Amino acid sequence: MISGRCECHRVRFQIDGEINDYSHCHCSQCRRLHGAAFASFAGVERTAFRYLSGESDISSYASSDSHQRLFCKHCGSNILVELSAEPDALYVAMGVIEGNPKLPPAYHIFMGSKAPWYEFDNGGEQYDTFPDE
Ligand SMILES: [Zn+2]
Ligand SMILES: [Zn+2]
Repeated sequence: MISGRCECHRVRFQIDGEINDYSHCHCSQCRRLHGAAFASFAGVERTAFRYLSGESDISSYASSDSHQRLFCKHCGSNILVELSAEPDALYVAMGVIEGNPKLPPAYHIFMGSKAPWYEFDNGGEQYDTFPDE
């Protein structure tokens, strides 16, 4: 079982299942919203995810028509991303997951807009946008 929480402890969640997708996104929205060189996400079945506390402390931001980003409105921790094209999946921010869960092979998306000030050589397939484009 996988668990996680936001920085201020209000939002806590549990994932009863496997992480079935593991990506690092280098798009400018993820970089800006996560305040980082890239954002790492664990794809899980929506039915495997449940809040233990703090669901009412969540706010959301639509970074595009298809992307809804959920974060703790108190501490600003990014919790997860919902994609309208994948209603059965959630992409949980790796940074709020506790410990070192079992992960599938990583891949990198939106390398075409990666931060120019950081070089990546840590392995994994790299795609300019999405893998299928
Ligand atoms: Zn918080
Ligand atoms: Zn992104």
